[in-house]
Amino acid sequence: MLKNDMLEQWDRENFFHPSTHLAGFARGEVPQRVVTGGQGCHIEDREGNRLLDAFAGLYCVNVGYGRQDIAEAISEQAKELAYYHSYVGHGTEASITLSKMILDRAPEGMSKVYFGLGGSDANETNVKLIWYYNNILGRPEKKKIISRWRGYHGSGLVTGSLTGLELFHKKFDLPLAQVIHTDAPYYYRRPNLDMSEEAFTAYCASELEALIEREGPDTIAAFIGEPVLGTGGIVPPPAGYWEAIQAVLKKHDILLIADEVVTGFGRLGSMFGSTHYGIEPDIITIAKGLTSAYAPLSGSIVGDKVWKVLEQGTDENGPIGHGWTYSAHPIGAAAGVANLKLIDELNLVQNAGETGAYLNKVMAEAVGGHANVGEVRGEGMLCAVELVKDRDSRTFFDAADKVGPSIAAALLDQGIIARAMPQGDIIGFAPPFCLTRDEADEIACKTAKAIAKVL
Ligand code: PLP
Repeated sequence: MLKNDMLEQWDRENFFHPSTHLAGFARGEVPQRVVTGGQGCHIEDREGNRLLDAFAGLYCVNVGYGRQDIAEAISEQAKELAYYHSYVGHGTEASITLSKMILDRAPEGMSKVYFGLGGSDANETNVKLIWYYNNILGRPEKKKIISRWRGYHGSGLVTGSLTGLELFHKKFDLPLAQVIHTDAPYYYRRPNLDMSEEAFTAYCASELEALIEREGPDTIAAFIGEPVLGTGGIVPPPAGYWEAIQAVLKKHDILLIADEVVTGFGRLGSMFGSTHYGIEPDIITIAKGLTSAYAPLSGSIVGDKVWKVLEQGTDENGPIGHGWTYSAHPIGAAAGVANLKLIDELNLVQNAGETGAYLNKVMAEAVGGHANVGEVRGEGMLCAVELVKDRDSRTFFDAADKVGPSIAAALLDQGIIARAMPQGDIIGFAPPFCLTRDEADEIACKTAKAIAKVL
């Protein structure tokens, strides 16, 4: 391991860290951590700390750290053929095999995979494909994309606009005009506490329809949503939500993008969130779990209906003018093939469902009784604890109180990495799928201690 006494200084002087308080980092208020290794659900840092990573990096190291099978597949691919592009009919054994493996696992009605590098560029691709699609169909006005408040779809210009979190818009002149937002399916924060889950679902669907009618259905191209809201607070949908939303979209001939960057490849205990909730998307976004982040790779799984029009478009207009140098990068593809094999061999989707349900149960038991815990919620290997000032009125703490970040820090002091989600005081957990029940118990027990310390 590289031992370099200058590393911390070089870090402060040279490294522009994403999603970081830049001035605070420069002043030394944001702790530095140089991560040096990982095994299973744990990472290690340069100071010799061993931490249980209950957020799997950024909910992406789904198979856990230190998987030699994936490392070897990457190494072999790099030695044999580090790079070739995938333009004009080129491919590699890894990228072609991976496209087949993805389609074999995807929900019904999916036709082809377009590969990118990360979730943001995949969603940019999706929006461009949908604009192209409507142009080919002679509907140049049908271009707006509806997203949800609290959705997260990336940090680019269009994808940062799709993201429905204030932090990602503020001072960036976002959202762009082509993107509009509708309500988050956030039952805990429903407008009226007397509403049943079914009534809230009906409310979300009618708000969506009202928005479509206000804007004009002929101007709306697509709706994008995560099967379970992720970065916006880990919020599973209320009962019947996806069925009700899809009925509205079908009625107005609006395409559906299921953003499965977090949920794809097993996090909910099903291979895809779409199958978990009966969603029939036109395009599915995949990234993180595709390679378990052993190499950057994303994809847009394009359904039959869109695919046919894209083909027609190239007959009319020539080759599709959309490509990244690193689309289907062979090293990413080799990592993807090895990762999907490992998920099958180790039954990790099933473990995500079972141990995830166990984590949610023990978490509810450990913290659910605390006066400031408003809700413990989750699905599969996703779990969230929402903290409130007052349980009955569900009042928020002042942001300045930093309740969420303080609890995450108190967890870190006990060797557990959890995430203070960006909006509200919500502590998120999204461990690797290889989590054991003992590790789930440890996370829950230490969360209770962290909450007791702060509140
Ligand atoms: N979509 C979802 C649902 C995500 O959670 C994320 C990242 O967290 C993205 C898209 C963006 O992916 P990336 O950060 O790889 O660009």
